[in-house]
Amino acid sequence: MDNKFSIFNPTEEHQMLRDMVAGFVKEEVEPQALEYDRDEKFNLELMRKLGSLGLLGITADDKFGGSGMDATAAVIAHEELSYSDPGFCLAYLAHSMLLVNNFSVNAGVDLKSKYLPGMSDGSFIGAMAMSEPDAGTDVLGMTTTAELKGDKYILNGRKMWITNGCLDDNGTPADGVLVYAVTGKESSGRPQITTFFVKKDFKGFSVGQKIMDKLGMRGSNTAELVFENCEVPLGYRMGEEGDSLVHMMKNLEIERLTLAAMGLGIARRSLDAMVSYSNEREAFGKPIHKFGQIQRYIADSYAEYMAAKAYVYNTALGMGPEGSGDRKDSDGVKLVATTMSKNVADRAIQVLGGYGYVGEYVVERLWRDAKLLEIGGGTLEAHQKNITNDLIRDL
Ligand SMILES: Cc1cc2nc3c(=O)[nH]c(=O)nc-3n(C[C@H](O)[C@H](O)[C@H](O)COP(=O)(O)OP(=O)(O)OC[C@H]3O[C@@H](n4cnc5c(N)ncnc54)[C@H](O)[C@@H]3O)c2cc1C
Repeated sequence: MDNKFSIFNPTEEHQMLRDMVAGFVKEEVEPQALEYDRDEKFNLELMRKLGSLGLLGITADDKFGGSGMDATAAVIAHEELSYSDPGFCLAYLAHSMLLVNNFSVNAGVDLKSKYLPGMSDGSFIGAMAMSEPDAGTDVLGMTTTAELKGDKYILNGRKMWITNGCLDDNGTPADGVLVYAVTGKESSGRPQITTFFVKKDFKGFSVGQKIMDKLGMRGSNTAELVFENCEVPLGYRMGEEGDSLVHMMKNLEIERLTLAAMGLGIARRSLDAMVSYSNEREAFGKPIHKFGQIQRYIADSYAEYMAAKAYVYNTALGMGPEGSGDRKDSDGVKLVATTMSKNVADRAIQVLGGYGYVGEYVVERLWRDAKLLEIGGGTLEAHQKNITNDLIRDL
């Protein structure tokens, strides 16, 4: 590594992390990606291995088995994993960011000492369940309820689209899920939302279905979860009643930042694919990169990728697991880097012609995977709404 400061690898530790993840990706992630996408399977064993590399609890509290690293480290891990397999990376994100980072920032010492070590070493794989069949962007429209009865909460409702919600095709649930549920009304009249940590063996909790036939991200499992008089002991409430909005706020920035980082991995891989193909493929007696239209695909992609990359890493700079307290740029990077990645993958397909349209050449999978980034973790329209509201508020 040269000594020049770079926001992409601000410290030697970041550079070492990048090299380590890139090496693992080449050896272990790349060889399985095509098969797991084609068969719509989640590679649980590979996921567990990320624990021994310190990646599952990458930003988690190091007093409880986490790696205690910053948001830049999380961005590096997501960018490198997505270079080969965004579907697998989405499962990694759902565990390491939606569950583990959230849990590490927001859970009390009792829950953390009991579960964070397993979440970090890969023996405990989990998920986060906010979305419902009838409420996604409109989070406060959720209808899953939790009612305190004695020393237990009774949860009723359904959660939809939950990444890692099941671990296989037989409906085996994740080891534990952070679940958001309505516990009453705030004094303002708004629904009061509370977070619960539901373990797989809690009575009344089950997997409704594994959602099949997804366009992309097929290397991750997506499930519907069912809570039918599900019994959750009081000690498994995370924080106090009504704390969910704070939990969401503290976790949202790093969630969106790492989803944007996934876009960077997709774009870099697509760019690499189109550059090398355009150098090898000849038409009309010359390599196709000699054609101006192909040059435009390549050069526009490079410049757009670099612009998004600078924005993502600049936003990550110095950010801790709780974010920065200002969501504008985490919404902003997701708005920019996700669509950029879809466009770059699209151009890569075009540059590869017929070959770009089949699985073996990877870019069609990246294009399918990229589309999810415009929806999951907040739709493009939600980011547009948030950024505009915040800019108007700050006038
Ligand atoms: C593969 C996959 C994995 C996922 N993983 C998880 C997970 O692990 N955990 C989890 O909780 N959720 C997960 N989700 C759910 C995801 O976060 C939601 O799909 C997303 O938030 C959008 O919600 P929705 O699908 O209900 O769409 P809706 O919110 O119903 O939106 C439909 C359309 O209306 C638009 N819209 C809605 N409100 C507005 C508005 N105010 N202004 C303008 N336009 C608006 C939306 O932008 C969108 O275009 C996942 C989804 C998928 C597909």
